[in-house]
Amino acid sequence: MKKKRVIAITIVVIILIIMLIVANFNKKEKTLNNNFKILTSFYPIYIMTQNITDGAKNIEVSNMSDVNVGCIHDYSLTTSDLRKFETTDVFIENGKDLETFTENIVSLYPDIKIIESAEDVSNIIEDEDEKNAHIWLSIDNYIMQINKIADKLAEENTENEAIYFDNAKEYTQKLYTLKQEYSNIKNNQEKKAVCLNEALEYLLEDLNIKGINIQSDHEQSTISAETMKEIIEKMKAEDIKVIFIDKYDNKNVAELLANETNASIYTLNSAMTGNDDKDSYLDIMKENLEIIKNIEF
Ligand SMILES: [Zn+2]
Repeated sequence: MKKKRVIAITIVVIILIIMLIVANFNKKEKTLNNNFKILTSFYPIYIMTQNITDGAKNIEVSNMSDVNVGCIHDYSLTTSDLRKFETTDVFIENGKDLETFTENIVSLYPDIKIIESAEDVSNIIEDEDEKNAHIWLSIDNYIMQINKIADKLAEENTENEAIYFDNAKEYTQKLYTLKQEYSNIKNNQEKKAVCLNEALEYLLEDLNIKGINIQSDHEQSTISAETMKEIIEKMKAEDIKVIFIDKYDNKNVAELLANETNASIYTLNSAMTGNDDKDSYLDIMKENLEIIKNIEF
């Protein structure tokens, strides 16, 4: 019996030694590269951060989710996502509960600094069951996110403080110009439309376009027949001739509504996916503006 116990203890000790060696090796690997590592949650935040960190020294920026994954509001972390957190110093999220997994990250990796880009955004659109966290298509909100990320990065990585502030200033100037272009087409008189994607709501609200917002988690193909009937009746009663959908939406519901009401479908871009181009948000928002500018409501 005694012999068995000795063997068991020896095995445990060997396992512990191996674990220690592995942990030490990982630590060494991490310290070999002293770059300040920034991880962003998904595409819009990645583009914001690319702009803010342009030209910064000794940093690495990467995006957690695939740039084509789209919205991450119902996202489940993969093992490859989790691996990225092992070496990261800062995680930048949209916030307003869009990234429901952040709590788990905080408990798994308590040393990672979390930056909630939307911390200062307060004009949240809410209905009875949920808050709409897709805030970035309102240019004002987007600017607030830029400034928050720059402030927090400057605190965490003082080496590049001046670069972060300069970049934020330069980028927000471009955004203010874009906002002015949007203001030019904003009508004081409220316009009406049907919006079939919650990610477009903040953009429409900025333009004083009010209408029937269908809270459908980007998936409007799940709308019940009863709801469809209600929307059609409302569209007819209020003479609504415009339907907005997002680029990647299924067109079925929009087409059904359009056939019943003689309305037209307009496809906007919620800037949730795209390429690595730093100007991608600006370009997408200009394209959206061109589309909306020519609509007769
Ligand atoms: Zn979403």
